[in-house]
Amino acid sequence: MDHFLYKNGELHAEDVPLREIAASVGTPFYCYSTATLERHFRLFDEALEGTEHLVCYAMKAASNLAILKVLAACGAGMDVVSGGEYARAIAAGVSGDKIVFSGVGKTRDEMRLALTGGIRQFNVESEPEMLRLNEVALELGLKAPITVRVNPDVDAKTHAKIATGKKENKFGIPISRARDVYAMAGKLEGLEVVGIDVHIGSQLTELEPFRQAYEKVKELTLELRADGHTIKRLDLGGGLGIPYTRANDAPPLPTDYGAMVKDVLGDLGCEIEIEPGRLIAGNAGVLVSEVIYVKEGEDRKFLIVDAAMNDLIRPAMYDAHHDIVPLAEPAVATEPDTYDIVGPICESGDTFAKGRELAPMQEGALVAFRSAGAYGAVMSSEYNSRPMIPEVLVQGDQFAVIRARPSLEEMLNRDTIPEWL
Ligand SMILES: *Cc1c(COP(=O)(O)O)cnc(C)c1O
Repeated sequence: MDHFLYKNGELHAEDVPLREIAASVGTPFYCYSTATLERHFRLFDEALEGTEHLVCYAMKAASNLAILKVLAACGAGMDVVSGGEYARAIAAGVSGDKIVFSGVGKTRDEMRLALTGGIRQFNVESEPEMLRLNEVALELGLKAPITVRVNPDVDAKTHAKIATGKKENKFGIPISRARDVYAMAGKLEGLEVVGIDVHIGSQLTELEPFRQAYEKVKELTLELRADGHTIKRLDLGGGLGIPYTRANDAPPLPTDYGAMVKDVLGDLGCEIEIEPGRLIAGNAGVLVSEVIYVKEGEDRKFLIVDAAMNDLIRPAMYDAHHDIVPLAEPAVATEPDTYDIVGPICESGDTFAKGRELAPMQEGALVAFRSAGAYGAVMSSEYNSRPMIPEVLVQGDQFAVIRARPSLEEMLNRDTIPEWL
């Protein structure tokens, strides 16, 4: 459920008509709903009630400081994958002991930043990373709390570009080698083993792959404890999918996910950490765009909109589907037309939807791409010298720009000309 609904014939974000925001900030823009962000966070938090846990929002899904502050105020921890994200978590007021650091390529600088600023744990993904982290921690006279990310070799049954838990993926340490790697960690003075980490992919639409992975983690927990390690935390990653089409069969709910987690791992006495990103932010954001032209092709109509693949890359990158709806609610009896919905960029990949049914559209009409809150703004670029589009946050009947659109001059001023030119 989200808070983008038609009221009085106009699509609203909570109590604000999106058209009003468009008039104020111009199109295209991203708009997020505070109530939806909070609701999704609470769904996870409540799903794990009764067991010690921390929901660490995977901020790579949407990392605007205002969004982070909303979630931090709900009690969220953060999952970060770079020094930049770590800095964002701190700037949003999250304390280090609620920040977990994931990622296959952490650098010395990033390790130093997190160790000195405070960190709940590093999720270590390889032996060389483990040795490097040990070195950095010893240099600083600190101990780095770690889990090892294990790769359970299960099929997440999701898009190949976002599956991470098969042995051919670059992530984690094969679970079959985990005992050796933990033995190595146990001998390194700069490290303190606190648990196990696993994350098998994104946009999972079934519970079964999670269950398979978590059963392997349970087995490993018992083995590692028998080997003398302290396993007090299990970081179960993120990855629960969201419904991108209103019609399709819905992915499992956080409640079902939480019940499964408690069923598989509840009797281990471990604190549970989870790292949802998409499910918190995805349906909490829309991308609003204006129709520039309706172009009659030879055998189809093109709706050319002012948003493009540089603003929302998911369709081009993952063949992703986004529902696209007019801001003006069509009358019930309206016969839909069929369109290819495309952006202005000089690449055929700049296509959002093919053969999509939509109420007949005219130049100047406004549309919303639904479910654009996660992996939307954060993956955008200024390709074709299209300035980054603004982000807006709504709460009740108020809205605020949380990242402004740069002027053309500001965009140009980021380049510098060498003195010899
Ligand atoms: C991307 C990622 C997540 C979040 O995945 P979602 O599908 O957005 O929930 C969590 N943990 C790690 C390690 C990730 O790389």
